[in-house]
Formats: sequence, structure tokens, C-alpha cells
Amino acid sequence: MTLIDEPTTVPVGGPALPQVRRVVTELPGPRSAAILARKADAVSAGVSHTIPVAAVAAGGGVVVDADGNSLIDLGSGIAVTSVGNAHPKVAAAVAAQAAQFTHTCFMISPYESYIEVAEALNRLTPGDFAKKSALFNSGAEAVENAIKIARKHTGRQAVVALDHGYHGRTNLTMALTAKSMPYKSGFGPFAPEVYRVPGSYPLRDGLTGPEAAARAITLIEKQVGADNLAAIIIEPIQGEGGFIVPADGFLNEVVDWCRANGVVFIADEVQTGFARTGHMFASEIFGIEPDLITTAKGIAAGLPLAGVTGRAEIMDAAHAGGLGGTYGGNPIACAAALAAIDAFENEGLVQRATEIGSILLGRLAVMQASDPRIGDVRGHGAMIAAEFVDPATGAPDAALTAKVAKAAIAEGVIVLTCGTFGNVIRFLPPLSIGDELLNEGLDVVAAALAAA
Ligand SMILES: *Cc1c(COP(=O)(O)O)cnc(C)c1O
Repeated sequence: MTLIDEPTTVPVGGPALPQVRRVVTELPGPRSAAILARKADAVSAGVSHTIPVAAVAAGGGVVVDADGNSLIDLGSGIAVTSVGNAHPKVAAAVAAQAAQFTHTCFMISPYESYIEVAEALNRLTPGDFAKKSALFNSGAEAVENAIKIARKHTGRQAVVALDHGYHGRTNLTMALTAKSMPYKSGFGPFAPEVYRVPGSYPLRDGLTGPEAAARAITLIEKQVGADNLAAIIIEPIQGEGGFIVPADGFLNEVVDWCRANGVVFIADEVQTGFARTGHMFASEIFGIEPDLITTAKGIAAGLPLAGVTGRAEIMDAAHAGGLGGTYGGNPIACAAALAAIDAFENEGLVQRATEIGSILLGRLAVMQASDPRIGDVRGHGAMIAAEFVDPATGAPDAALTAKVAKAAIAEGVIVLTCGTFGNVIRFLPPLSIGDELLNEGLDVVAAALAAA
């Protein structure tokens, strides 16, 4: 193969890319292999990758690599490119803003687009009460700031997070995150005054939602004390932890307890937010109105932006100058967010997430019916997972999961795994994927499972 010496024509990304799975080389092909070799030399070994290709274009439901392979995208860069990669409105908004101005620092000279994003967040998040927002660069930074705000508001220090929770990789968010490898191991000491309690994991704890809530609340009351507790932070559907959907009533009872005890309830919707679950926010599924909501991932189609949104009186607790950052709410990221939000609202993407969810749930249910290694199929909208187990014992089967994912990737389908036990394949396709491509991706996963 002489491909590596030929000049490449890099396709323009976006929805006009041919929507096909096309594997023309082994993965990685020669061009990707050369780029990944440079990665190994130049980039810290701590920054790993799961799909062995170098991307050059993406859009609709595909990612195209340096060798011209076209992979079906069932991951959206971890639930980020929900509106579709290189969405034309986002690309145009970014280009226009980049030509206008790229930065002033919102804390130096504010600009309207940041305020418009805040207004949109205040309007779109659940809860019919006065809200305010602040913008940051990453999900972890949003979580850090939500905790700062809750502490300032309550005058208390303790924070509770859940087993299987994931909140980021900065020091405080590592403390909040449950899983040691790869997120925390060797990186301590971690921030103090963080406590962990079990949440609700119906497949593995067999508890009803109210029972799981009572278990958590009793532990909090006995081991932390409501008077010391600033906030409880919960992902309404846990993401990295395994797409764990809590049993009915769990979140409601925890929220009620928080309200009765002056504790700030923070919903970390960094992964679940922005149409992903077939609702603009996953809190809506459970009928809860969080005091604060953190957002990132889907908000700006890949530009670095994150938000904290919540009750105005809580958001205003911080003193002037207490919140912010050099880049937080960068004008290009805000332009991307406004274009993405326009797409979420005006291109039927909430509905599309529900349709994608029915296809995923339907196909996976059929697979599960004839394969006891699929212990559970769960999720909402375009955030669906299959948990793999040993049929005899129900024990997590991480080896099978890794094997299936690896085989699907080799066939040109981007699938991601997750879960505390590494035994979950998660499906997070862009909402711009077509039914045919989605079904073809699932065919490949089904074949990989059958062969494993
Ligand atoms: C990804 C994620 C984060 C961290 O976001 P980063 O942008 O990677 O810092 C926090 N919380 C949840 C629920 C996430 O899925």
C-alpha cells in the first residue's frame, strides 16, 4: 500500500460528508499510524485514546480518518457533538465570531453573547423560579464552581457525592469522583470534606427508589450531619459510572430531604444535558427541580464551554470577583453555544433523541432476549447502555465488554465503554445520525457480540 505517500484531500466535515461506513485499511491505517507514533513521542502517556485513528473530518453520523476510513460515530466525542459535528450553523457562527473578536475577558469588558447564553440556560433548565448562570471552560470547572457557590450560600463545608459518580479530573472533582483507576490513582491527596454514599443501582442493589434514598439519607445524617452539609451533587443518570438510571422516587426523596435541611441539591447534567436523554435536561425525566445544574459537553458542539445555572439567590451568594476565569464564556464558545441551542430548539433534536432511543432500546432488547450475557439494557433517549455479565453469577464481565468494543471498532464503529466495573457499552450517537447508519452500527456490535 502506497497510500502514505499520496497527497491527501481532506474532506470538509459536516452533514454533507458521505454517510457511510467504509473501512479501506486496517485500523490504524498507515497515515493514522504515523500520526499516532508522533503522539506517542510528543504527548504525555497519561493522555490515552480508545479509537486508533487520527480524525480529519466528521459530521452527520461519521468520523473520517487520515486514511479515508469512514467510521460510524456512536460516541459523539463523549456526548458532546449532539447537534452533529461541524454543524453548519455552529461552523458559521464560530467563523463569524472569530473574525469579529476572539477575547476580551468577560470580567474585563463583557459582551452580549455570554449574557444570551446565560439567558438561554436560565430559560431552558427545569424550575419555574428566578435563575442566574455563570460560564466556565469545562465540566469539572463548572462542578468546582457549583460547590464554591453552595458553600458560600450555606456557610457549610461538607459535600456528598454518590458511589459510581463521575464529576471530573481536577482536585476537587477527583475527590467527588468515585472510581480510582484511571481517574484518581496516585493523584492524591484529594480535597477534604467530601463524603460518598450509595445511590440507586436497580440491577445491583435490588432496592426501590425510596429505600435507596432512605439508605443514603441515614448515612448522611449519621456520618456527616445535615448542619454541616453544603450540597449533594448527583448525576440524574450516572454517566462514566455506567449509565445507571436510579429507581423511581430516589432523586425526588433526596431533593425533598435537601430542601427540608437547607442543603443545596446540585444536578450534574454535564453528560445528560442538552437533549441527550430525549429531554432538554434529564432532571425532567424524574420531575425534579435542582437548586443548581452544571452543564458542559453538549452545550457548544465541542467548543469549550460550561455553565452553572440555578436559583438566583444561591447564584448571587458569591461576592463580586469571587467567580470567573480568564477564558470562561469565551465569545467563540458562546457563539457556538447559541448556534447549538438554536439547533436543539428548532431542529427537533429532543424528539430525535427519543427516536434514536427507541431504535437502540428495541435492538438491544432483541439481542438481550437471546443472549443472557446482556444483563441489563437501560437509559433514556440517545443515552443507552448494555451491561455485560456472567450469565451464571451476574458478575460484571469486563473482558467480554472490551472484546466486543474492540471488534466493533476494528469494523469501523466508534463505541465507548464505561462503568465502575468496565462492563458497560454506552451508546451516545450524535442526534444528527440517520436511522440506517445507526442500525448498521448496531448490526456490527451484534455481530461482534455473537462472535465473542
Ligand atoms: C464529563 C463529565 C464531567 C467533566 O467534564 P470535563 O469537561 O471533562 O471537565 C463532569 N461531570 C459529568 C457528569 C461528566 O460526564
